[in-house]
Amino acid sequence: MEQRARISVRGVVQGVGFRPFVYRLAREHGLRGWVRNTSGSVEIEAEGDADEVRAFLEAFPSQVPPRARVDTLETSFAPVAGYEGFVIRESHRQEGAYQLVSPDIATCADCVREILSPEDRRAGYPFTNCTNCGPRFTIIEDIPYDRPKTTMAPFTMCPQCAAEYGDPLDRRFHAQPNACPACGPTLELTDVDGNTLPTDDPLHAAADRLREGQVLAVKGLGGFHLVCDATDETAVRTLRRRKRRPAKPFAVMMTDLAMIERHAEVGNAERDLLSAPQAPIVLLRWREDSTVAPSVAPGSRDLGVMLPYTPLHHLLLRDVDRPLVMTSANVSGEPLVAGRDEALRKLPKIADAFLFHNRAIHIRCDDSVCRVDGEATQVVRRARGYAPSPIDLPFSTRPILACGAELRNTFCLTRDAHAFLSPHIGDMENEETLDHYEAMIAHYEALFRIEPEVVACDLHPEYTATKVARALAEAEGLPCVAVQHHHAHVASCLAEHGVHGPVIGVAFDGTGYGTDGAIWGGEFLIADLARFERVGHFQYLPMAGGEAAIRKPYRMALGALHTLFEGPIDLTDLSLRSVDPVEARLIADQIDRGLNAPLTSSAGRLFDAVSALIGIRGEIDYDAQAAIELEANAWMAPSESGRYPYTVTRDSGLWVIQWQELFAAVLADLRARTAASAIARRFHNTLAAMTASVCRQIAAERGIRSVVLTGGVFGNRLLSGLVAAALHEEGLDVLTHGEVPGNDGGISLGQAVVAHFETQETKGV
Ligand code: ZN
Ligand code: ZN
Ligand code: FE
Repeated sequence: MEQRARISVRGVVQGVGFRPFVYRLAREHGLRGWVRNTSGSVEIEAEGDADEVRAFLEAFPSQVPPRARVDTLETSFAPVAGYEGFVIRESHRQEGAYQLVSPDIATCADCVREILSPEDRRAGYPFTNCTNCGPRFTIIEDIPYDRPKTTMAPFTMCPQCAAEYGDPLDRRFHAQPNACPACGPTLELTDVDGNTLPTDDPLHAAADRLREGQVLAVKGLGGFHLVCDATDETAVRTLRRRKRRPAKPFAVMMTDLAMIERHAEVGNAERDLLSAPQAPIVLLRWREDSTVAPSVAPGSRDLGVMLPYTPLHHLLLRDVDRPLVMTSANVSGEPLVAGRDEALRKLPKIADAFLFHNRAIHIRCDDSVCRVDGEATQVVRRARGYAPSPIDLPFSTRPILACGAELRNTFCLTRDAHAFLSPHIGDMENEETLDHYEAMIAHYEALFRIEPEVVACDLHPEYTATKVARALAEAEGLPCVAVQHHHAHVASCLAEHGVHGPVIGVAFDGTGYGTDGAIWGGEFLIADLARFERVGHFQYLPMAGGEAAIRKPYRMALGALHTLFEGPIDLTDLSLRSVDPVEARLIADQIDRGLNAPLTSSAGRLFDAVSALIGIRGEIDYDAQAAIELEANAWMAPSESGRYPYTVTRDSGLWVIQWQELFAAVLADLRARTAASAIARRFHNTLAAMTASVCRQIAAERGIRSVVLTGGVFGNRLLSGLVAAALHEEGLDVLTHGEVPGNDGGISLGQAVVAHFETQETKGV
């Protein structure tokens, strides 16, 4: 008996070799019919012997291609239509329908083998790819995903490539970016004015220059990198000087795992993560005997390392045969540079030469940054390899645009049970980033066919993203929901794990606007996806000079001492004594008169104050530097188990953690010439014990056993480890971030889910 199955598949099913897979499977079972992409799904009709149809359907789920993800598969049956053979049909476009888009995928082992085989026709070809790897998100202009809707459209396949593309048994069957040296994109090496430099082998010439210590701008997958020899201290310093980036760590690309292991400690989970198709930058423990130049990551115990993820990178790294600094090419604070003209306009004072290619980047995408905590991966910056894969929600939402926070901005668009978290946009501090942000929102809305019905933003009225949200809501007549910053942090962690709460939310970060107008950031909340209640916080300390106190942590330290103790503090022997007495008096005056000295419960600022007080870092060059160096010091005293005293008071039901005793004890340690590393460690131990103790009391009073740890401060691996261990000891469950950043990069997801519940009549998941 014969039968026809009609199948509709949704999920990540385009650009990942799905149709070829269906084609081969159907032929294996002797079925007739067709498969095609639509804007919303992959549709299949397969007919033939009823047993074979059943076998086909049964084999389906277990045999889908490795990079595909099937969310739903609907099957119905119909009488035989009388098809002849099995074919791949033209894509079909449906109004309003949408589909998931594959992220860019690191070059697969088969393609690496080809480019390194001298006999292969793709030997040394930097744009080699197949259905299992290569550019996707960054080259897609619209769906359905077909070559004419990508930036590969201008390249016409040569007969050999066309034959591969058309051969169902070939690895490149319907690989949209398929290319070879005869027909695909090419490289060009130019001077800073864009004049082509004469060479037969631009890649080899670029490698020569890198070995000589030059800085190159290299066009990659989602933008340009600034590249130099990471083992050449002079080259790295030159790059720092030209980029005006004195201290913020650079990422390094290394040829293979063997090279990485010579420079950093690599555990099993880290090895897997480095080699994953996402190929993120992984923060690794930097080995003492590494020859990577110290100025690659000054003052840091970690080194951010990635493996080559495009053929161009593989070839370049093998040629240079040294670790290379690969840092996003941008002018300080602006978005990643992605176009040729833009690069020549913005980077000539930074780079000595340019390595261009002529495959356009439609969407800029930075490298992702991850770290491994125990066995779990935490994404610190979510971009290439992850975006635009959605976060799956445990409920269906209306279309919402959540605009995100000020620093490390991302936005989030929801549709059905999908939350499309944008790739890392950056700090919203200039016109260029704002333009990029608005263009990216427009691209996402178009790509995923989303028309927001609700806009969500931070409670902070002065955030750029808040202003964008309010203007948009007003122009479109949409409700605008302002979500408290730390509630959004907690909700983002809950949403990622599909948990509704309530939980105890511990949100430790740098800055977040509070409902009382103060700057929050050392918060204990009871929260679920719909609402929150503040149940505890760190004592308020003054930020003398506002923003100046963030850039100059010694202002936090002096401000804390001035607030916590009566009368002047004897600063003899303390590093704080070097602060200009005039400025010190000004700080005291600002605090006493309450002039430009906003109050903050921020954990980040507490770390800053302690870091400056013990002489580790009084002024910063990049966000969180003082805290990062405090952590690095604390790691140097692994056996130190001491803690400092603190007091917890109860003020109208609110737990407040008071720091006077802690500062007094740190001062006593300093006078006793205790090592900075021991003080730093004791401070970490104290925060862990305090957090566990406060959570235990909240848990006992409220009957809630689950704790969410969120906020940028938990990027501190020592702190997060100590806190989680202390909470486990109290018998509490701990939930931490995974694929969604715990820093402000995850805020937009939290805003979206809270806005969903705020604007929904019937609550509940
Ligand atoms: Zn491949
Ligand atoms: Zn070709
Ligand atoms: Fe935050």
